[in-house]
Amino acid sequence: IIPETASSVRTTCPYCGVGCGVRATVHADGTTEISGDTQHPANAGRLCVKGSALDETIGLDGRLLYPHMRDSSTSNLQRTSWNQALDTVAQGFSDIIKRHGPDAVAFYVSGQLLTEDYYIANKLMKGYIGSANIDTNSRLCMSSAVAGHKRAFGADLMPVCYEDLELADLVVLIGSNTAWCHPVLFQRIAKIRETRPAMKLVVIDPRRTATCELADLHLPVKAGTDVWLFNGLLHYLSQHGKTDAAFVAAHTNGLDEALAAAAASSADPLTVAKICKVNVRDLLAFYDLFASTEKVVSAFSQGVNQSSAGTDKVNSIINCHLLSGRIGRPGMGPFSITGQPNAMGGREVGGLANMLAAHMDLDNPAHRQTVQTFWNAPRIADKPGLKAVDLFQAIEQGKVKAVWIMATNPVVSLPDADQVQRALARCELVVVSDITEKTDTNDYAHVLLPALGWGEKDGTVTNSERRISRQRPFLSPPGEARADWQILCSVAQRMGFDGFRYQSVHEIFDEHARLTAHDNAAENTGRQPRLLNLSGLCGMSKTQFNAMQPVQWPVMPAAHDEPQGTQRLFTDHHFVHPDGKARFIPTAPRTPKNMPDQDYPLSLNTGRVRDQWHTMTRSGKSPKLNNHITESFIDMHPQDALLCGVREGSLARVSSPWGAMVARVQHGGGIPRGSIFVPIHWNNQSASDARIGAVVNPVVDPISGEPEFKHTPVRVEEF
Ligand code: SF4
Repeated sequence: IIPETASSVRTTCPYCGVGCGVRATVHADGTTEISGDTQHPANAGRLCVKGSALDETIGLDGRLLYPHMRDSSTSNLQRTSWNQALDTVAQGFSDIIKRHGPDAVAFYVSGQLLTEDYYIANKLMKGYIGSANIDTNSRLCMSSAVAGHKRAFGADLMPVCYEDLELADLVVLIGSNTAWCHPVLFQRIAKIRETRPAMKLVVIDPRRTATCELADLHLPVKAGTDVWLFNGLLHYLSQHGKTDAAFVAAHTNGLDEALAAAAASSADPLTVAKICKVNVRDLLAFYDLFASTEKVVSAFSQGVNQSSAGTDKVNSIINCHLLSGRIGRPGMGPFSITGQPNAMGGREVGGLANMLAAHMDLDNPAHRQTVQTFWNAPRIADKPGLKAVDLFQAIEQGKVKAVWIMATNPVVSLPDADQVQRALARCELVVVSDITEKTDTNDYAHVLLPALGWGEKDGTVTNSERRISRQRPFLSPPGEARADWQILCSVAQRMGFDGFRYQSVHEIFDEHARLTAHDNAAENTGRQPRLLNLSGLCGMSKTQFNAMQPVQWPVMPAAHDEPQGTQRLFTDHHFVHPDGKARFIPTAPRTPKNMPDQDYPLSLNTGRVRDQWHTMTRSGKSPKLNNHITESFIDMHPQDALLCGVREGSLARVSSPWGAMVARVQHGGGIPRGSIFVPIHWNNQSASDARIGAVVNPVVDPISGEPEFKHTPVRVEEF
């Protein structure tokens, strides 16, 4: 149902973690016009090509409009009623919990969910079912940053804001093709450099990506060598007296151990340059630039996080900012750029298997008590649940017997994706909530539930700079689709749980805000007061919630100096560890777990292309976006192609010990010898054998559980 008169709604882009404000205007003829929201602080009216093509993705082609079920694993999905579908889910989960305990069930959710959906899923699993088996596809993109923040600061807190990128005199982009993956942030950097040409940009990335076109210096480090590089910088800063001794003495602990680790691996720049495979003059130029520039932002993304040493990589970067005291002041700090629109919102409500809610800890009895009391929950999970890769392995092993997958497509996106297929094929109950009728994951669903999509759903998201923005509906719900939080509440009620009788998303947001403020004092928690505090947002009326403007947490009551939220954290140099000090973390470098060998001589790097998103279930609907790159590809160096016997333009097979995929060979993507790059997006719905996830090794960081997507030994052969 389209409104008869034009209506204009301010909402937020559903793609990347920049979180741009979007204005959507529905005209009387049914067309929708999309433009950048000039009032949104993240983008001030800018949109990238993905955001500006959103109108091409909201049609109902391929939409899942009705609940479906199948009688057995071999029968086809048949349309059913909501009552029947919800009863089946509730009964199935209850039966399995009764027979095997709460850890025999799991939710696998998504950074595409709104914060309120995430909040309800987490409350149901951790507080009512009593297991922490809820993990998210955000595990795949930023969990190493979460773990690194917790180790360094005592909590998962991102210190800087977007404006710092514009105030810095040096921006270092590490493992981030910002020009393609966070385009509006890149536009902001490019724009400011027009007015401040002295501002420097260094890009650290094995590939010569589009981001490098603007760089003053590109360090094409060998994949996996970041810790050697940043340990070398830490050592260099120390040796050249470029430290903030007063800051270090007053506000940090652990420097000696970190310096010893840095000296052990990276005391000699020549050795570091050799290990990282960069020119030593360029390496020293970077070290000198960092050492001599006061305002430095080090922004990092999946190239750092998606590694079996991801958490150490994050901490090796943060160590350099702590040693130079460059944190908590304008124009400086370490900056984790998140991948998804609501990766941050998921963290806030505890949508990771090793977190509770409101950034509280599962391993802290006072925190568990706080959350259980606040929820009036019958139980509370008391140990971490299974992280994404472990979860699907546990399903294949028969330990987890029911899984509910929401708004994500793990048969394409997880590493060792063929293993995910095997796991789902043997799982007793697979429930999938999605907006798309046909996905590689839906093929395994016993119950398929139609969810609302962008433009239809209502709630909040949090972007990379901790800014909470509203996603607002401007389209009517299609078919019988429902909001994810409504579906979850209906199942919870059928399972016999109180505490899920919400009338609107506004009530859920208010409960989330009150939980962040509840019992939030050192004497009650045994720790410093929690910084995730939304007390200034508690008690909003529905009208106020609907009119809510973008705001950065923490949001203290209105009397606070920053009624619109908090731009920067740690401005008082007080951290969250019990002694109020930040921690240097000693980081001993290690190579990726699986190295190339005779059988698999090349290293596979995966990532995004400019105009597609995740597994293309939305962006693949846009003709404009599909024009950019029409099919998957294997980018490789011409000499490697010659050695493998494949030609540019021909189809080739990429294989590893875990699986294989087929794509067309191309050159010219700035890939160094010895490695290849394949995009993550294509799926078996668009072309057979197109899932690169099937090839990726299921190796994870031992602390964060984030998979090593940037390094799998592979071979390439003629197809
Ligand atoms: Fe959307 Fe990210 Fe593009 Fe902004 S930069 S319009 S959030 S995809």
